Amino acid sequence: MTSGPVAPRPARRRRRVPDARSLLGLPVRPLLLVLAVESAAVAAVVAGALTGAAPTRTDALLCGLLMLVAAVHTELSVNAERLRRRIAETRYINMTSVWTFAAALLLPPVLATAVVAVIYVHLYLRVVRPSGTPPHRQVCSAATVLLAVHTVAGLLALVGGWGGAPATPQNAALVLGALVAYTTVNTLLVVSVLRLTAPGSRFLVILWGGDIGLELATLSIGGLVAVVLANTSPWFALLAVLPLLVVEQTTLVRQLEAQVDTDAKTGLLNPAAWRWRSRQMLERDTRTDRAGAVLILDLDHFKAVNDRHGHLAGDDVLQAVADVLTTEVRDEDLAGRFGGEEFVVTLGGMRADDTLDDRAREVAERIRRGVRALEVDTATAGRVTGLSVSVGVATTPDHGSDLDGLLAAADAALYEAKHAGRDRVAVRPPAPPVVPEGATPPFGLSFGT
Ligand code: GH3
Ligand code: MG
Ligand code: MG
Repeated sequence: MTSGPVAPRPARRRRRVPDARSLLGLPVRPLLLVLAVESAAVAAVVAGALTGAAPTRTDALLCGLLMLVAAVHTELSVNAERLRRRIAETRYINMTSVWTFAAALLLPPVLATAVVAVIYVHLYLRVVRPSGTPPHRQVCSAATVLLAVHTVAGLLALVGGWGGAPATPQNAALVLGALVAYTTVNTLLVVSVLRLTAPGSRFLVILWGGDIGLELATLSIGGLVAVVLANTSPWFALLAVLPLLVVEQTTLVRQLEAQVDTDAKTGLLNPAAWRWRSRQMLERDTRTDRAGAVLILDLDHFKAVNDRHGHLAGDDVLQAVADVLTTEVRDEDLAGRFGGEEFVVTLGGMRADDTLDDRAREVAERIRRGVRALEVDTATAGRVTGLSVSVGVATTPDHGSDLDGLLAAADAALYEAKHAGRDRVAVRPPAPPVVPEGATPPFGLSFGT
């Protein structure tokens, strides 16, 4: 069973945003946003210096102490942070917001600015530069943090300041409000910049991929540090360093685990992870009377794409196809790269009725049309168009209820699609019932009685 090409969608352009080594290498819209964020940060710093309270001697001592503890923290976590930074998929959260948030709560704006500046220069020299990240990114991160710090300072100024005053319920509410303001400003700015520099990435993916929970936990420790600094001996702030290091290690392990499941070239699941998760999904569907489908996709004449445009451009095409897959399936479906230019998708939790094949075919058709409409701007060979993909589809339970059976059926359907002319979807027809030799024929008939 095959379905031929239908009218292609309007061209879908995949824009590659170069990993700009300099700020001016960025495309216009991200560049304007980054410049706007940095100008706003400079304005906030100047306004804070002009209108904020003049620092006292105690403020200066607290400021020095925060800088010192932050430096100890950075030095102790250099190796873990370099690794976390290198493998971060979307947003990288460093845990120095413990100190910058505490500074925002406790210090006059001018000293809070100094704490941010010292921490970010130190981080740049020890973590960011050795990981190969260009300096303008660090300047932009520092600008978002400065804006968050000055939002907190402005908020506290509005309500007459906190200054680490006694631990009353009102002051606890104030610290919580400051935490929400800090994280809202910082997160929105960072996610907006990332959305423009990594087009196609979904807002929620950046948010959760960036681990908003980690950010909130870090800021909560920052709030506690501020209370401790203000109300007991400042040296107790050192007690925050060990929990931070442990949280960092745990986060690193989680990031590494995620990386083990990922295909490095496309960011999709690798074959082992796809198989494991698909098996679980199919078993769950069987238990809950839901149905599922497996799609195998193989790009058409991909060798010719490589031959004409080069292997690197071929890799950009693979990434663009992976983006089509992630866009066209639901978040709970599983998209993987099986190897070379072959991809697999498991659709789970589907309604089990006789429209199942049609619904699975429709998803496959959407992907096929998406690939047909691709215009991939490659780094090395200009724009690549005219791509197509053949797709084989198999559904539960007609083509099997275990993964291997479904894969074999989908592979046979793919073979059919290729032979029928490529750029098409084929759904495996249900296998005829197997009648063991000598058994009573179907339909309940028996002969000779
Ligand atoms: P068909 O329509 O029959 O599938 O033709 P095809 O040229 O796509 O044939 P086949 O699937 O056998 O070819 C796979 C090609 O994919 C061969 C290889 O050069 C290319 N390829 C495999 N892995 C990669 C990769 O990681 N990057 C790039 N750029 N090319 C790859
Ligand atoms: Mg192939
Ligand atoms: Mg192929």
